[in-house]
Amino acid sequence: MAEVKLTNVNKVYSNGAHAVRGVNMEIADGEFIVFVGPSGCGKSTLLRMIAGLETVTEGDLHIDENRINDVSPAERNVAMVFQNYALYPHMTVRGNMSYGLKNRGDSKEEIEKKVIAAAKTLHIEDFLDRQPNQLSGGQRQRVAMGRAIVRNPKVFLFDEPLSNLDAKLRVQMRIEIKKLQRKMGVTSIYVTHDQTEAMTLADRLAVINNGQIEQMGKPIELYKDP
Ligand code: ADP
Ligand code: ADP
Repeated sequence: MAEVKLTNVNKVYSNGAHAVRGVNMEIADGEFIVFVGPSGCGKSTLLRMIAGLETVTEGDLHIDENRINDVSPAERNVAMVFQNYALYPHMTVRGNMSYGLKNRGDSKEEIEKKVIAAAKTLHIEDFLDRQPNQLSGGQRQRVAMGRAIVRNPKVFLFDEPLSNLDAKLRVQMRIEIKKLQRKMGVTSIYVTHDQTEAMTLADRLAVINNGQIEQMGKPIELYKDP
């Protein structure tokens, strides 16, 4: 578990686009934060900076007491789940879930134990020897989540993880994500443009517009009738 802190964070891309403008935010241990806002408002850029997939132009990122601006993605103890799953197509489910653990030097026995446990949690233990192209969209998303949880990260980052699923599956997976997050108590940041998803998942919502936080609070505070 971990606290995440953003202090005056800015992102200017090399083409001059000022995607994130002076964002300050403190996310508590175990909290589930949802970023909502129109397309192009900077949600994904914020998430990618926390993941270490984009540099921070100005400002500071902290996980607990550690400044992570210059820490490599692998060493940040964060795990990201992408909209397009981002699985390795030539690897099996087991291979996909093991990859990060192998890279950080876990033993074979340890890896197998973690992979099996995560696969059971996500109900994909029967698919461990299949390749991604032999799985449905929902199953692929489960593998992507499995790959995230095996690493026992301090922070989960979700970038519109359900937008490629049909409506029914979206609801089902949303409920599972929430349950899993509650059970694991992992601090989570979730990007979506789906209002229902935002309302049902969030402990607190950050409404983002034009690279800035417009509002931040509990769903009930932000969406109550005027
Ligand atoms: P940078 O300018 O930060 O070096 P690039 O222009 O090389 O980034 O693009 C990196 C990635 O971001 C590419 O995959 C590209 O398709 C994507 N990208 C580039 N410009 C935009 C944009 N305006 N909005 C969204 N994605 C973009
Ligand atoms: P959102 O996730 O809310 O849709 P993004 O973070 O993807 O928004 O984009 C924020 C702004 O930054 C947009 O204006 C977008 O065009 C721009 N942008 C995103 N990625 C890149 C990139 N790689 N290079 C240049 N501009 C980018």
